[in-house]
Formats: sequence, C-alpha cells, structure tokens
Amino acid sequence: MAIRREQLNQRSERENGLSLAVDVLVIGGGPAGTWAAWSAAAQGARVALVDKGYCGASGAAAPSGNTLWYSPPDPEQREMAVISREARNEGLSDRTWMSRVLNQTYTGLHALEDWGYPFPLDDQGQVYRRSLQGPEYMRLMRKQVKRAGVQILDHSPALELLISADGLVAGAAGIRRQVGDRASRDGINRWWIKAGAVVIASGGCAFLSKALGCNVLTGDGYLMAVEAGAELSGMEFSNVYGIVPTFASVTKNAFYRWATFTHEDGTPIEGANAGKGRPLIARALSTQPVYAQINRADETTQAMMRLAQPNFFLPFDRAGINPFTQRFPITLRLEGTVRGTGGIRIVDSTCATSVPGLFAAGDAATRELVCGGASGGGSLNAAWAISSGTWAGEAAAQFATVLGNTDDRPAFRLGGATLRSTPASTTQTLQEFIQAVQAEVFPYDRNLFRSESVLQGSLARLNTLWQEISSFTASDSQALQARETAAMIATARWMYATALARKESRGMHKREDYPHTDPQQTHRLVAHGLDHIWVTPEPQLATEDLFIREVATL
Ligand SMILES: Cc1cc2nc3c(=O)[nH]c(=O)nc-3n(C[C@H](O)[C@H](O)[C@H](O)COP(=O)(O)OP(=O)(O)OC[C@H]3O[C@@H](n4cnc5c(N)ncnc54)[C@H](O)[C@@H]3O)c2cc1C
Repeated sequence: MAIRREQLNQRSERENGLSLAVDVLVIGGGPAGTWAAWSAAAQGARVALVDKGYCGASGAAAPSGNTLWYSPPDPEQREMAVISREARNEGLSDRTWMSRVLNQTYTGLHALEDWGYPFPLDDQGQVYRRSLQGPEYMRLMRKQVKRAGVQILDHSPALELLISADGLVAGAAGIRRQVGDRASRDGINRWWIKAGAVVIASGGCAFLSKALGCNVLTGDGYLMAVEAGAELSGMEFSNVYGIVPTFASVTKNAFYRWATFTHEDGTPIEGANAGKGRPLIARALSTQPVYAQINRADETTQAMMRLAQPNFFLPFDRAGINPFTQRFPITLRLEGTVRGTGGIRIVDSTCATSVPGLFAAGDAATRELVCGGASGGGSLNAAWAISSGTWAGEAAAQFATVLGNTDDRPAFRLGGATLRSTPASTTQTLQEFIQAVQAEVFPYDRNLFRSESVLQGSLARLNTLWQEISSFTASDSQALQARETAAMIATARWMYATALARKESRGMHKREDYPHTDPQQTHRLVAHGLDHIWVTPEPQLATEDLFIREVATL
C-alpha cells in the first residue's frame, strides 16, 4: 500500500484549525456512533464525536422507522430468535455473537426506555420494544450523548486517520463545513483530533443512489480503516436494491409484501410479491416500466402501516396518490453495503479491528457475525448498531486508559487518495468519476445478476478508476467530495474482488454462473489491500477462544 505518512505539522497546521486531544474519538453519529460515544463516556473517557451531517438527523436510521431484533431474556424465546434468523444466514453467522447481540439489545432498549423513549403499548397493554422511530430515537441519543459529556462536532466529516510512531491509530483529521471562524491557511476549516483510540461508525456505502438517509454514506470508514491496515469481511454481500416509487427516495421493502406488481399494460409480474420477487422486478424493469399497488393490505394493516412508518406515505400524499387503491411506478434503488452485511473485519468480541487502537461498529463493521450474507428486512442491523456500538465504545475507552495520556504523542496523517496526490494527467471531473463508478454498481445485470466475465470487466475498469482517483489532486472545496468518490471506487473494488472469489450463490450474492450454494464455501471471505486487493477465506476466527478467554477471566 503506497501511503505516505505525513506528520501533522504541530505549529502551522494545528494552530489554524480546531485541535483537540481526547481519549476516544468516534467517527459517525448514527445509532452505532452514539451508542459508542455514550458507552465510552460511561467508562469515564474524554470523548469526541464527529459527524458528516448533524448527529441525530444524519445517516440511514435517523429518517426511518427501525424494527429491532428484540427478545426478552427467556431461554426458549432467545433460542427461537436465533434459530429463526440462522436459517437465513446460510452458515456464516455465529451463535455466540447472535446471543450476545440479543442480550445487549435488550439491555440497550431498556436503557432507552429509562432515558425517556416513548415506546408504545401493544394490544395486550405490554410495552412494544420491537421498533424505534428514527427521528425520536436519534434525537434522544444525541441528548443522551451530550448529557454524558461527549463533545459533538456536527458537519465535520473525517477525511483520514492519524497514526502514532509505534503504529497505533492515534486520531483523525477532517474538515468543518459550517463554522464561521477563521479558516486554515489553505482556505478551509479543518480539525485534528488526537485520540487514544478511534471507533469508526460511519455507516455503509450506498453509492449516492439517493436512497433516503443514505447519500452521506459513501464508504469513507472502509477507506480510512484500510489505509491504516485493516481488512474487510463479507464485501460480496453488498447488493441490496430497495423498492421505491420513482418519485420518492423512501426504500421500505416490507410494505410491498402486500403489493401487486404489474407491467405497463396491467398484467401481473407473477411471483414478484413473494420474498424472492425483486430479481423478477429487476428483469421486468430492464425492458419496461413496472407498477405497484399495495392492494392486499386490509384496513387494519393500512392503519398500522401509517402509524409505523408515517414518512413512507409523505411522497404519496404529496403526489395525491393513494397507494392502496392506485398503482404507481416503482424502481429499485441500490442500498449497497447499507443493507448489505459486509464491512470492516472484526477480530474479537470487543469489536476491535486488526489495527491496534481502531474499533468498528454498526454498518461500517461487518455484520456477517449476526446476519451472515442476508440482512433482509433489517431488524438485526439496528440491534447490531446498538450492541457493536456499546462494545466498541467501552473497549476503546479501556484501550485508551491502558495507553495513558497520549495527548502529546506525535501523530502522522494516513490518508492517501486525493489528499496528498501528485498532480496527474487525468482530465476527469469528480462528477465523471462518480458516474463511472455508479455505471459499474447500479445496473442489475452487473451487481444483482453476477457472473465471472461481467465482474471481471467491472473490476478492471474500477481498477483503472482507482489509479486515476488516487492521483487526483482535489482543490480545497472539493476535499470531501473527492474523498467520498475515492471511497466509493475503493468500496466497489472490494465488493467485486470478493464477489469474484465467491464462486457460488449464497445470501444476497447470486452468481448466474454458479447458481447453487456450495457447502465447501461455507466460510467468510476477507478482502485485503488498497492498491492491490487480494481475497482470502477468513482463518477460523478465534472468536470461540476469545469468548472462552473472556468467560475464564470473569
Ligand atoms: C430505508 C432504510 C430502512 C431501514 N430499516 C431498518 C429496520 O427497520 N431495521 C433495521 O435493523 N435496520 C434497518 N435499516 C438499516 C439501519 O438503518 C442501519 O443498519 C443503521 O442505521 C446503522 O447504523 P449506523 O450508525 O452504523 O449507520 P448510520 O445510521 O447510517 O449512521 C452513519 C453516520 O455516519 C456519518 N458519517 C458518514 N461518513 C462520515 C465521515 N466521513 N465522517 C464523519 N461522519 C460520517 C453519517 O453522517 C451518519 O450520521 C434500514 C436502512 C434503510 C436505508
């Protein structure tokens, strides 16, 4: 990996931007990041949280309703919860992790209730904790994080990690997009935060597909982590397409269970409303418009839907369409790794990565441990964000405590592509780069219906794009967009390199040339490297040993 480490210039740079020193820095302020920040602060750590948008309103969870994988601590119910999900995970999840997540989610939701989240009552008058309204949930998390003393920097995307001379992750650097105070010498407001440990919770990558809440999710965390030497796992499980009205961005697949899908002339698309119907819709869409009508929901279900997901109905109400009685045009929007299950590889029960001082949580981390290759209709994702965030924050605080005061240790900047590039011959604009990567990942016949030759072709073009973006010199005003573009290109390369290595169909990864699941490939795949990518089967993760060790030390 050709990353040049550049020491932070203590005098000229830092005095012109915001410079902080904390124990734990959390990158990303969605559910995973806020749980991480709260949990680190609960350990007594000094914590800062940076978000690309406004913490509490940014990312995939904030604008959506979130159903949750929740089970009371009754052994039989817990066992049922694990068994029912395991059936979809096709051998890639881990029971110990699943049980831990159920446990931690239960604890977390009860904490949320204590903090004031207004859970409704169900028909039997019991508190219903299986769903969270994004706006209320995230508003409460922001409040709770502030109450815990966490310093929040909104509209402050991280661009790169910092590393210490002895190879520990030592903080991050980024820009401040909405501050009126003095800009750095180079014309933009910057921040540098030194930290004893860093939690990456920057969500997944939806390739600017305009799915609701997802346009801030461009794979930045993966790029930063791999630049520091981390690995990724499960990147082949990255091709969920959400059903969306053509005039809206709300991808809410669950409600389409009650829909009928039709061709333009009104003939039904047979089988499309079943669980595996999206490929049929995709095939139909490649030749003609497709319509949906949610005509199989009875009145009670309709009322429940309005109550559970009011934002789903907004675009219909604005357009004057009743989705229960009128058909409307739909399309499929890529949600990439947001509703995929791959991400930064986790190496132990604390959500540590393979890089000392770096932890990962939420969609930025691999969710294969609990979801295998199919996140499906969600619920495990929100539970994973709570659990992995809590564990990562706690472990990061402990890591920083063991290190002691690191405020004055020298730190080096780790970012490569677009940040410290030599001027290159590329004439492409960032917009052209973005269109080029989208042309490789959006089409169904590349990403949904996968095959060796098509994946090879895409990967070759993406490798060329990577070489070009790596040496793209961004102007100050382009700094964020350039890094996002580099992160999307890098993410697409990890996706397809891993998809090529998985020569079978499993979970959401479907190969036209290998339509069956091969029991010999019941292992996770790890992607390594940046300029040169290689994929290996995950060595038998020592999770069992780690858990045994954990239990033995209690
Ligand atoms: C429409 C939709 C519906 C869903 N419904 C469900 C559901 O019902 N149940 C379920 O379990 N899951 C659901 N999911 C998935 C769920 O929303 C995610 O798993 C969850 O939001 C993950 O939380 P997170 O904190 O990891 O990421 P996010 O909520 O996406 O938050 C990531 C945060 O990181 C910030 N960020 C990104 N890059 C940077 C950077 N460079 N620097 C600083 N900050 C950065 C973003 O601004 C954002 O605030 C749904 C997803 C979508 C898109």
